Amino acid sequence: MNDYFLTIDVDWAADWMIDYVADRLIEKNVKATWFITHDSPILNKLKAHSELFELGIHPNCLPESTQGNTEDEVLQFMKKLVPSATTMRTHALYQHTRFLRKAALEYDISLDTSLLLPRVPNLSPFCLKWKEANLWRIPYFLEDDMEMFEENPIWSWCDLRIHVPGVKIFDFHPAYIALNNVNFDVYENLKPLKPLPQWTIDFVTPYIREGIGPKTLFLEMVHYLAENGGGKWMKEILIK
Ligand SMILES: [Zn+2]
Repeated sequence: MNDYFLTIDVDWAADWMIDYVADRLIEKNVKATWFITHDSPILNKLKAHSELFELGIHPNCLPESTQGNTEDEVLQFMKKLVPSATTMRTHALYQHTRFLRKAALEYDISLDTSLLLPRVPNLSPFCLKWKEANLWRIPYFLEDDMEMFEENPIWSWCDLRIHVPGVKIFDFHPAYIALNNVNFDVYENLKPLKPLPQWTIDFVTPYIREGIGPKTLFLEMVHYLAENGGGKWMKEILIK
């Protein structure tokens, strides 16, 4: 298997940010897997485009989660929001074997991609079997904000470091696409000023970066997928 997969961690982005990302995919007819964090009107738009969008869950089991106080509360919240979800990436890559088993056995999750192995070639899915649970796992290959911490970040689709053998799952965040920043401090400095869902276009406009960054890499990937089969959902990884 030698494919590129586009995934998006919603991470409580404002609706207009999510809308921008969704529209770029819709206009190019490109498939993506979204990892949902919260309820908002834009979720209906994502659900309405089931021909393009697979909706997975993005459980946040860290302290002070808005999704619940226990792992079960969080997973119940998630499944209520996206009842059909079979794919998961946990927020902050929270995981331990008992949690993964619970998600698989009790919440119908069959595929997990909560492990980041940046730029590592030859990634492929494997099935974790433990006490009746069968959970397919596949590491992901690149995350927009992690590139901000790299000495030589990848912001261009023609970068040869992207085009190695193996499954390559890319993870973008609507907020980072909107800001197009290559320095994580910009986002970190804005966060205390206003909760993310309340960020308006006017509020962020002074901080939007021109030039290459998460947004241009995202747009180039969408363009590539549009020209090369239209992309695939995470759950299609299991269809041989
Ligand atoms: Zn997250």
